[in-house]
Amino acid sequence: MTSEWELKKLIVEIGKRIWLRGYVASNDGNITVKLNDREILTTPTGMSKGFMDTDMIIKVDINGKVISGNPKYRPSSEAKMHFEVYKERPDVNAVVHAHPPYATSFAVAGIPLNKCVLPEAIIVIGAVPTAKYGLPSTMEIPDAIREHIKNSDALLLENHGALTLGSDLLNAYHKMETLEHTASIVWKAIQLGNMNVLPAYERDRLMELRSQFNIPGRIATCDATPMPSSDSPAGAAPSAMPASGAVSEKTIRDITERVIAKLAKK
Ligand SMILES: [Zn+2]
Repeated sequence: MTSEWELKKLIVEIGKRIWLRGYVASNDGNITVKLNDREILTTPTGMSKGFMDTDMIIKVDINGKVISGNPKYRPSSEAKMHFEVYKERPDVNAVVHAHPPYATSFAVAGIPLNKCVLPEAIIVIGAVPTAKYGLPSTMEIPDAIREHIKNSDALLLENHGALTLGSDLLNAYHKMETLEHTASIVWKAIQLGNMNVLPAYERDRLMELRSQFNIPGRIATCDATPMPSSDSPAGAAPSAMPASGAVSEKTIRDITERVIAKLAKK
């Protein structure tokens, strides 16, 4: 059993990692860990997650009432979103919220990250749902995530960021890494003009592995429907190449627009 002090140290460490990896800017993001059924450790509001120390971590109850902590710091204003997770999912012991740029770009563009693309992502985060936009720090975000967290440990928050849930803090953090890594690869595949989707047969074999490995948490099944463009990458891409081999900016823009339109169609 990890002690309260060790968990505070781990929160500080994960805060540093999400800041160093550019998953948050300024004082954005928040991290919580469940100590027991009544007590939760949370990051403070208005502080960079890259520059925290254990003294800044606050212990609150499930309704946000401060139990102990340095009075100089107040609990995260987004803690309500985390409490909603703990109320809905007794199997979850840690929650990470950040604004990683690639994943957040999909949340802003309104393009879902639900296709079966990478084996690791299919097993770890599955099809990532997008929760409707809500005003930060109000109950609008907890209300928006409620349905999605029943079936998924990784969520996009429309025009806002991402949320990952875990059986422990490292597990929740790793899901944030997997989510952002996947989003960056899908984004780059879109730039290249094509995205091959793994077929249902391969997805089912991966889901079988997932149950063999006894991986904790919940995932929604990814979409194995091929992209309409998969037999001819991005429609007319090859013939659009000039003889010199150089691709004009306009061609890249056209291809990108076509792939994004197909992705957005679901
Ligand atoms: Zn946020």
